[in-house]
Amino acid sequence: MSNTRVRFAPSPTGPLHIGGVRTALYNYLLAKKTGGTFILRIEDTDQNRYVEGAEDYIKEALEWFGIQPDEGPGYGGAHGPYRQSERKEMYAQYVKEMVDSGNAYYAFDTEEELSKVREEEKEKGNHSFKYNWEVRSKMRNSTSLPKEETDRLLAEGNNITVRLKIPQNETITFTDIVRGEVSFESNELDDKVIMKADGMPTYHLANIVDDHLMEISHVIRGEEWLSSTAHHALMYRFMGWTAPQFAHLPLILNPTGGGKLSKRHGAKFGFPVFPLQWDGGEETFQGFREDGFDADAVVNFLALLGWNPGDDKEMMSKEEMIELFSLDKIVKSGAKFDFDKAKWFNQQYIMSKSEADILTTLKSSKDAEKISQYDDTFMLKAIQLMKERVSVYPDFISNGQYLFSLPAEYDNKTLKKKYKAENQVHFDAIHELISSDEDFTAESLSGKIKSYITDNELSFGAIFPILRIVLSGTMKGPDLFAMMELIGKEDVLIRWKAGFALIENIA
Ligand code: GLU
Repeated sequence: MSNTRVRFAPSPTGPLHIGGVRTALYNYLLAKKTGGTFILRIEDTDQNRYVEGAEDYIKEALEWFGIQPDEGPGYGGAHGPYRQSERKEMYAQYVKEMVDSGNAYYAFDTEEELSKVREEEKEKGNHSFKYNWEVRSKMRNSTSLPKEETDRLLAEGNNITVRLKIPQNETITFTDIVRGEVSFESNELDDKVIMKADGMPTYHLANIVDDHLMEISHVIRGEEWLSSTAHHALMYRFMGWTAPQFAHLPLILNPTGGGKLSKRHGAKFGFPVFPLQWDGGEETFQGFREDGFDADAVVNFLALLGWNPGDDKEMMSKEEMIELFSLDKIVKSGAKFDFDKAKWFNQQYIMSKSEADILTTLKSSKDAEKISQYDDTFMLKAIQLMKERVSVYPDFISNGQYLFSLPAEYDNKTLKKKYKAENQVHFDAIHELISSDEDFTAESLSGKIKSYITDNELSFGAIFPILRIVLSGTMKGPDLFAMMELIGKEDVLIRWKAGFALIENIA
């Protein structure tokens, strides 16, 4: 086992965004590539933002994609517990160490006092209030108050938070694998709270403590955490710990214009930005799985949002991705979420699947009930006919509607254009051929109908489009004769009747 230990550390505040899945995926790929360990850690220190069901959703999504953690809540591992709320006791000693070494301090400010200074600053035109060295000296904390007063307040035990003491006039520099050297001026940083009044650590503290205790070698996470990394780098220094290597992933951008891909955008344009459907009371979001995507196709699509193997290669199995993955091929600039591309990938994946696999997927989809009315032999043939004409799984049933029942609608425009009354005698003759065909295979039907057309010196273009629309309603269907064989004689004759009755009305 190599020393590569990576973690995906979501906060269970709602459904996992597709960007989070990409973060998990890159962590997973690096772990598998290096023979390392992929860890799931649930960062649930903020109880106010905790959402019931979010952790299960995260696990279900990772499992659907086949990017299972090696360690995590419910997955075992020697570095647990893997939920931060269950590690509460562990953090206190590190907070104390930082206070004792003078790198953190107790603050006694009440919410009201904080709002008051915020307001005052706003009035002075300062809209980005920061609790920094300057503010620190004016507020009530163990750096500004006399020792006796601090001791008294500590003994009282009310409303005590711990803040990080950011040094003044320092440039904090760390190396990011994606961005190279990154620097922040310490005077721009705020004295972040690391322990809240209820004794719960904040994200920042719990995050570095756990990365240290869990022996994380690489922190791979979204770009939005880049600025926090300055605080984290300082905390590693304060604790005398070696920091892991950092890699901050580029944003996933909205398909139109800039900005981070948002759930609002998904809802507006009708595409999923979540892996699985989420029914959260008033908030319901569509998911890739329920919308009929193949998990492997989505993984392939996501892998390329911010990474490429160094050439134009697009179709890759998970094994190939593992083989080709490297952090130095992650790009810096934001990656546009292109839903059509996601559908293209899905189409390619569906085409490469066996009919039997597709049937298994359909049987556990929302179309399961419909499918149960047909036997497997019929379904496998229907799938074979439709396979190259779908981009998501439900298309088998919706685009292939006419394989299961009478066409829901007809391409009247083409019917009108192509139907010639003088050919009716030929259609009647073809009807006769069909009715008397005992085999009713694609081969025998095609042989008979094609010979009839040639023998009577007709053009295929005068006959086939009419047959096709009469049977399926559309010009876009699969092979006409294969379709007839599948539908069966009885149904073909019913459709024939309905279709020609329609022609009489419109032609
Ligand atoms: N809990 C953070 C999140 O929800 C994790 C950030 C990190 O990976 O450090 O994204």
